[in-house]
Amino acid sequence: MTNTTTKSIGVLTSGGDAPGMNAALRAVVRTALSRGVAVYAIYEGYQGMVEGGDRIRALTWDDAGGIMQRGGTVIGTARSAVFRTREGRLKAARNLLDKDIDRLVVIGGDGSLTGANLFRQEWSGLLAELVATGQITPEIADQHPFLAIVGMVGSIDNDFTGTDMTIGADTALHRITTALDQISSTAASHQRSFVVEVMGRNCGYLALMSAIAGGADWVLIPESPPDTDNWENAMCEVVAAGRKAGRRDSIIVVAEGARDRNGNPISSARECKVLEERLGEDVRVTILGHIQRGGAPSAFDRWMSTLLGHAAVEELLASTPEREPQLMGMRYNRIRSRPLMECVTQTRAVAEAIAAHDYERALELRGGSFKDAFRTLRTMVRALPHPPVPGRRRMRLAILTAGAPTPGMNTAVRAATRLALDRGHTVLAVHNGFEGLVRNEIEEFGWMSVSGWGPMGGSLLGTSRRVPSGADLYAVARQLESHNIEGLMIIGGWTAYEAALKLYNERAQYPAFDIPTIGLPATIDNNLPNSELSIGADTALNSIVEAIDKIKQSAVAARRCFVVEVMGRYCGYLALMSGLATGAEHVYMHEDGVRMKDLYADLLTMIKGFQEGKRLSLVIRNEQANALYTTDFMCALFEEEGKKLFDVRPAILGHLQQGGDPSPFDRIQATRLARLSVEFLSEKGEANGSDSAFIGLVGGHVKFTNIEDMPRLVDAAFMRPKEQWWLSLRAICEELSQTGPDVTKID
Ligand code: ADP
Repeated sequence: MTNTTTKSIGVLTSGGDAPGMNAALRAVVRTALSRGVAVYAIYEGYQGMVEGGDRIRALTWDDAGGIMQRGGTVIGTARSAVFRTREGRLKAARNLLDKDIDRLVVIGGDGSLTGANLFRQEWSGLLAELVATGQITPEIADQHPFLAIVGMVGSIDNDFTGTDMTIGADTALHRITTALDQISSTAASHQRSFVVEVMGRNCGYLALMSAIAGGADWVLIPESPPDTDNWENAMCEVVAAGRKAGRRDSIIVVAEGARDRNGNPISSARECKVLEERLGEDVRVTILGHIQRGGAPSAFDRWMSTLLGHAAVEELLASTPEREPQLMGMRYNRIRSRPLMECVTQTRAVAEAIAAHDYERALELRGGSFKDAFRTLRTMVRALPHPPVPGRRRMRLAILTAGAPTPGMNTAVRAATRLALDRGHTVLAVHNGFEGLVRNEIEEFGWMSVSGWGPMGGSLLGTSRRVPSGADLYAVARQLESHNIEGLMIIGGWTAYEAALKLYNERAQYPAFDIPTIGLPATIDNNLPNSELSIGADTALNSIVEAIDKIKQSAVAARRCFVVEVMGRYCGYLALMSGLATGAEHVYMHEDGVRMKDLYADLLTMIKGFQEGKRLSLVIRNEQANALYTTDFMCALFEEEGKKLFDVRPAILGHLQQGGDPSPFDRIQATRLARLSVEFLSEKGEANGSDSAFIGLVGGHVKFTNIEDMPRLVDAAFMRPKEQWWLSLRAICEELSQTGPDVTKID
């Protein structure tokens, strides 16, 4: 047994595996090593802790390399009955002390975290027993007076209070959404209905969000069983009405824990039978099962887990016997910690409410955005809008997409159209952005005009980069007047916002522009003011991460450096976040500038790395990082100076970043922002107002910013906001990706 005072950290994954656990592990290992603290992986969860020996092994910097893109957990997970006994935990304590470990990072579900807390509470008693039985000396016990623990939730179900997202949930949503897209194309070919069962015993998050993202017709979740006893009639009516209105496929999403008001489970087989009998058509059941759990983690699961792992180590290193153990979670795109056991208790309260048939409370505990999403879905799945509410103002609203086509635009148009029609408005869809508006390419949309639009990439309405000016303004005003347009929704990026500002500034000349107007942020560049994540950015990030996974694989046999150029114009969001999510060694972006001395220093690190046996180096460069130090220049510099040690290849990802089907997050976000935008236009219209604003989420809150404030909020020369929340993550990216000349020496 070692007898030093150096504290070591142990890290384990426990309970069900979840994609993203490896990114968390990498961050834990590298943050600990970069702070000079040894870190041990405890293989196979608590079982490995009880067994000890080579189940508890020190990890080096390089051990944590090349694992981020892998699904599951590379250190294994297990359920351990013996850890539930005090005898088992006594052995576990002894094994940890063998390696000087008295700080634990536990990545698991509520069971694993409860176990960790119990272990912590018992720690001094366990050590006293080990001393009494002569298994450790009193000095050893004195050196480890308390066990510090920190938790992270690994669970695809997103069933935990204390974090907006659990590790693995976003990836599971990707799997389910892809499956729903695929099922709907085959279902549409045969005019079939499908019942799709997804995971979630006490949590309907995956079912609800995938139903929104996949444009499903009905959803059944544990927290909110159907209101009436004859809900099956209602469901069949919706499906039949959809058919009548022209839908070729119907999809019913059922969470595995779905039940009726009386608590009786609703099985997918029974749903299938009911639909077959009442609709007289072919119905198929697909149970997605473990597919939802597997595969490479999504970009979000990689960067979120990385930030969580990093924060967990910082928390552990600062822990004191007095401080309550914390759970590291994500709140509004920021990492925050909350008392661990409080979160566990609240999480269990939802399951208890469901078990007690107290569904109102269950839904309440899930929070406001869950409830809103459920309400939105219930409107979207209708075959026809609700009858108009008497006395409410019914407006003629125009919707257009402007700027570059962006994944998620169609989802936003679909949601805005249906939700506006549902409020009794008339929807005028403008084709080809402002160019189409000038040319009078305007079409009235009905409920079914947007059927099937949700999952499609690009912009089906068509878009253009034209910002109206000069004679255009007159033409735009004329079209707005001749169609009697009373409200305008502009979905797009920088040019869309510029156009909205232009119209606003010209109101004195053109009274037709004096109508409620809303800008909805949709650009992969994520460069819009007062919007932390614009629609499309998550999809682009996933495309980049997938491309880099492939690029990395292509180089396994060679010693090679890749310089990957990503989009974003002058905004480094895609560069930095893809750097975080792929573990790139260097990220160059315009915000930081690129100087020769940085390039030289990075080159030296690269040379050193390759000399020490490294096989791959990944550099990410934002397309506008520097006008002179181009991607080609950087490649030439590295190639020349690297001599024969390694070769260098550029990879300019180009337009694949703008294409592709929108990610689940972008679809959900597009639906939410479209709903709020329709509400904004309706409220302003009701009040006879003519506000012009853009919408965005800031710190988790919806913010409407007056368009006239835009110039104040942006750096116009570089087309990006003055404040960019993600810039502070740069230091973490650097800390975790350095080659770490000294840190590898520990152990
Ligand atoms: P999850 O962590 O995903 O909820 P489990 O509930 O199966 O999964 O817990 C994983 C492991 O955590 C269990 O096999 C057991 O070893 C440990 N564990 C769970 N609950 C407790 C408990 N109350 N006391 C001690 N250990 C526990």
